[in-house]
Amino acid sequence: MKWNRFLPKVSPVLRITIGLWLLTISLLLMGDLFGIVPNQNESEIQSRKVMAESLAIQISAEVREKRLSQAVHLLDAIVKRNTQINSIALITVLDKVIMKSSQHDMYWEGQKDDSSTVNYIQVPIYAKAARWGTLEVSFVPLGTIWSNMFTARSFSAMLLFISVFGFIAYWLFLKRALSELDPSSVVPERVRSALDVLNEGLVIIDTQGRIVFVNDAFKEKVHLSEDRLMGKQLSHLSWEDENEEKILGEHSLPWNYLLETKEIPDTKTFRMKTEQDTILTLDISVAPIKVANQKLKGVIVTIDDVTTLERKNKELNHILERLKTSQEEIERQNGKLLQLSTHDPLTNLLNRRALFQSLHQLLREAREQERALSCVILDIDFFKSVNDTYGHSVGDKVIRTFADILQSEVSQDHLVSRYGGEEFVIVFPNTHLNKALERAEQIRVAVENYDFGKINEGLNVTSSFGVACTEEHQVWEADKLIDLADKALYTAKQTGRNRVIAYNENSEEIDSHAKQMMPSERR
Ligand code: GH3
Ligand code: MG
Ligand code: MG
Repeated sequence: MKWNRFLPKVSPVLRITIGLWLLTISLLLMGDLFGIVPNQNESEIQSRKVMAESLAIQISAEVREKRLSQAVHLLDAIVKRNTQINSIALITVLDKVIMKSSQHDMYWEGQKDDSSTVNYIQVPIYAKAARWGTLEVSFVPLGTIWSNMFTARSFSAMLLFISVFGFIAYWLFLKRALSELDPSSVVPERVRSALDVLNEGLVIIDTQGRIVFVNDAFKEKVHLSEDRLMGKQLSHLSWEDENEEKILGEHSLPWNYLLETKEIPDTKTFRMKTEQDTILTLDISVAPIKVANQKLKGVIVTIDDVTTLERKNKELNHILERLKTSQEEIERQNGKLLQLSTHDPLTNLLNRRALFQSLHQLLREAREQERALSCVILDIDFFKSVNDTYGHSVGDKVIRTFADILQSEVSQDHLVSRYGGEEFVIVFPNTHLNKALERAEQIRVAVENYDFGKINEGLNVTSSFGVACTEEHQVWEADKLIDLADKALYTAKQTGRNRVIAYNENSEEIDSHAKQMMPSERR
């Protein structure tokens, strides 16, 4: 068991203060012992001697001149004026008292012989080489050490002053100096080595915001040595906010916020520019250090380096952005492909394949819902001669214009497709035969009335229509329904063109008759 366990715990600062204080007092006492310190009593004695001797010379002169009354007068004046003198007496060798100031008998405690002490001085007076008498001077006693202890300007007073104020001054100075010189001493060695093992940066600051501890991880991150960091304000490192703007107001830094408000802020991301101009991205959390009485003693700042994570995040976002762009491009290309695969490039109408796809679906729905569906096939009359007369490019323009007329004459629910060269198919869902015939007639008139002279002077275009309806013939297959309409178209061609014909049994007869002819003679 250690004996000093029972001693009150004294802080190192206080211990050093006591040491210095004792040392100073010892030095002063030694100085006094060796006589280096000026002694007030010594000099007082000297001045008393000088004063007594000069008095003796003056009085001797007066006695020689037989001017005793003058001498008495002089001595009276001196007693009154000089506060150091209590009383004076001038006595002849025959013990005759020439002059005695009041209460001299009370004050005088001098020796019987001629010897003098500090307070009682006897000076022999001579007249014509013979001893004439004695001058007795009783001074105010210089006193003992204790009685002079508190006299201003004494050595004891100085000693007392240095004892009291020296102690306070040493203590304040050491407290300040130690924390300035070695702030790291605040954190014990065992704790330091434990904190150095951490991967996270850790800084401890005092209530003034000065760094008192930094662990190895933080030093490595900021590329600064312990000497450069200790005692420095943590806020004075080059902090930036998330938008890479320098933090000018230090209050936004979390440890300052904690020190000012005593509230713990949330973990926040900051940037720090190192002296090597690297930008670090750091997640910063703070926690208060409190002592038993809940008094805030400092702040623990934990610094998580997320620089790599953030860089990876940025890269990932960049890749995602590029992926999104290329996905959009693929979708655009797919849309283009779909458009190309389902539409005719000259007229932008549905092509034959797309027509069949949609028609299958519409026929299935019509059958399920027991609704009528009509199909119209139409063909430009004598188109070959348009090509022959005006050229192929005029022929193309006619086909495009014809397609536009069809588009403008039908609604969105209707399917319009380019079925072949100058043949088109229109599907009218949910439409009975009569309504379909009506619509076909409208289109026919629109074509007939259109001024194709705009494309080429003298150009006239008409078209022929064949119409078939599911309701009439109970046909639910796309190719069969179109075939019926085609037979009606053939009838239209045969019966003079520029007309609309619905499919009926006659159409069948006309068609079978046509099949016996050479293919080139059809239509
Ligand atoms: P009909 O009244 O009997 O239909 O007579 P037609 O001349 O229109 O009939 P035919 O089927 O004999 O001729 C169609 C012509 O259409 C043949 C072909 O050269 C032309 N043709 C087909 N596709 C195109 C095309 O895309 N552009 C042009 N300019 N001509 C085309
Ligand atoms: Mg034709
Ligand atoms: Mg044709």
